[in-house]
Formats: sequence, structure tokens, C-alpha cells
Amino acid sequence: MLIDLRSDTVTKPTKGMLNAMMNASVGDDVYKEDPTVNALEQRIAEMFGKPKALFFPTGTMANQTAIKLHTNPGDQVICDKYAHIFNYEGGGASFNSGVSCKLINGHRGMFTAQDVVDSINPPDFYHSPLTKLVEIENTTNKGGGACWDFKELQQIKEICTTNALGFHLDGARLWNALVAKKESTEQYGNLFDTISVCLSKGLGCPIGSVLVGDEAVMEGAMRIRKIFGGAMRQVGYLAAAGIYALDNHVERLEEDHAKAKELAQVLTKASFVKKVEPVETNIVIFELQEDVDSNAFISNFEAQGVLFVGMGDNKLRLVTHLDYTNNMHNSVVSLLQKH
Ligand SMILES: *Cc1c(COP(=O)(O)O)cnc(C)c1O
Repeated sequence: MLIDLRSDTVTKPTKGMLNAMMNASVGDDVYKEDPTVNALEQRIAEMFGKPKALFFPTGTMANQTAIKLHTNPGDQVICDKYAHIFNYEGGGASFNSGVSCKLINGHRGMFTAQDVVDSINPPDFYHSPLTKLVEIENTTNKGGGACWDFKELQQIKEICTTNALGFHLDGARLWNALVAKKESTEQYGNLFDTISVCLSKGLGCPIGSVLVGDEAVMEGAMRIRKIFGGAMRQVGYLAAAGIYALDNHVERLEEDHAKAKELAQVLTKASFVKKVEPVETNIVIFELQEDVDSNAFISNFEAQGVLFVGMGDNKLRLVTHLDYTNNMHNSVVSLLQKH
């Protein structure tokens, strides 16, 4: 039995999800004639209190589309140094939109409203790039699944309004934050101009992300998605997985969070661990003692059927998910306690 804790993207569709996919009614989504895609988009738009939503094959394409919508070539985006859009989207922000990122040296992928104020280039100082967009991530990926304080986000929104900046949320794991902090989709819809959410992470779909936003912004999104090669045909089969996941896989994220917290407790007590980062959702980042080699540690667990991922600096990451069962959890706990 392989226990894969590298990411929450390794899940496979459940029988129920596959059933929903097989029975989906479909049409040509480029003509906006796929009833299942339309239903998923409408449902997510309503959840966030936004007029429009658009289905994307990946979270990267949804984020890249948002950046393109908010900026012109030469502009600058403010984000944390850990941001997915900066580190893990292949340099897409500069390739697709011709923008640079002003990186904030935040804490666990998060920063303050004052950090944003300090990062805005004065618009009349034409020597520096024009600041156009503030981008944040909730939960933070490289920050170890940390959740933002909503009050800080409200203060950042005020700064954005005062300075005519767009505000985009990379909500690949927003579902985890909502469940962990008992927050609502509406409150996020109220605050952000655009939000991307993933269906293929904690929610367990094989593919799919959705971008939500206001009418004018989403008009543009259809065109940009087309330009990026993301206009798809009978993708109701995939959207059906998303609808199924919204019905069945959101509340259960609590189970993933509980397991991650238990693993963190076990790791905190382990002699080979130097430090465990605080766990709020389904990601656990821990640092090994200096005399423990992380590659050897990973191989050792791999030989016993458990997969972790290295993060550099002798740090490892594990992510709990839908396919990580109670039995698997018990085995991992006892393996860690024995090691
Ligand atoms: C996974 C992820 C994305 C999107 O990734 P895709 O693999 O393109 O779907 C975006 N942002 C964050 C923070 C992520 O973790």
C-alpha cells in the first residue's frame, strides 16, 4: 500500500464522482452550451456573490488570466516572496502579461497592509513600474497552509481602493481556509475583484479551477482564456466532478486538518525533528535535525511506502487529503513514532 503525502493533488476521483461525471449532460462550452459547465459556473458565482464565474483547466491559467486582466505590460504586481504566481507558474506573469513582481518579505506567505503601502510605487514617479495589482494567497502553499487574518485582508482592500489597485486572491486552497476559520465565500467575494479556486486540490477532482469576478472583468476573462488556449468543448464531464465535490467534499476537509494536526503532534515529539511549523489546515512543514539528511530520510520512508516531498533547507512537507485514509494515518503515525 502506497501512502502518498506529497500533495493533495494526488487524489483519484471516487466512485460517486466518476458516476456524476459519466452521467453529465454536455455541450460545446465554447458556444457556452454546456449545461453542466454553466451550472458549475453559476453555482460558484452565487457562492461568492459575484455575477460571473469561468471554468479553467488549471489554477495556473486562472491566475495568469487574472493577472492579465488587471495589468498592462510594464506594470507591477505586489505579492509575497512565497507566492505561487511568482515561484511556481513558470515565470508566466512576465511571459504572459509582461509584468514584474514586487516581492514582500512576509511571514509564512502573509504580509500586512503597511507592507503593501511601503511597496506601492508613486504613480507620478515615471521611472518606476506602475503598481496595478495586489495578489494574496489563502491558504498559503509555501507558507505551510497558513490562513490569513481576515481583518488584515480588509485593511489591504482599503489600501487597494485608495490607490486604485486591483485585488486578486489565489484561492487554490481557499476551501481549507473557509473550513478552518469558519469563514464564508460571500465575505471573500465582497473583498476581492477576482478570485481563483481549485477543484483539483483538497476537493479531489481530476482537473479544474474557477475564476470569479465582476461582469466587466469576466468579459475579458473569456477572451484571455481563449488566447491562452483554454477554451474547451464538452467539459461538462469535468465540471460535473466539481459540482459533486462542492456537494460532498468541502465539509470533510476538517478530517484532513485533524489528521495534519495529529501528524504535527507526533513530529513535534520525534527526536529527528528540529522544528514543526504551526498547522492550521492540511499542510505540515517540518525541519529535520542538522545530523539527519533529508534525502536519506525521504528514501527511507519511501522504502516503507510513505511519500513526502523535500522543500530545501532540510525541510519536508506532507499534505493530507481525501485518499489518505484512517488506516493509512495509523500506519504513518506508528512509523513516525518508531523511526
Ligand atoms: C496548486 C496551486 C495553484 C494552481 O495550480 P495548478 O496545478 O495549475 O492547478 C495555484 N496557486 C496555489 C497556491 C496552488 O497551490
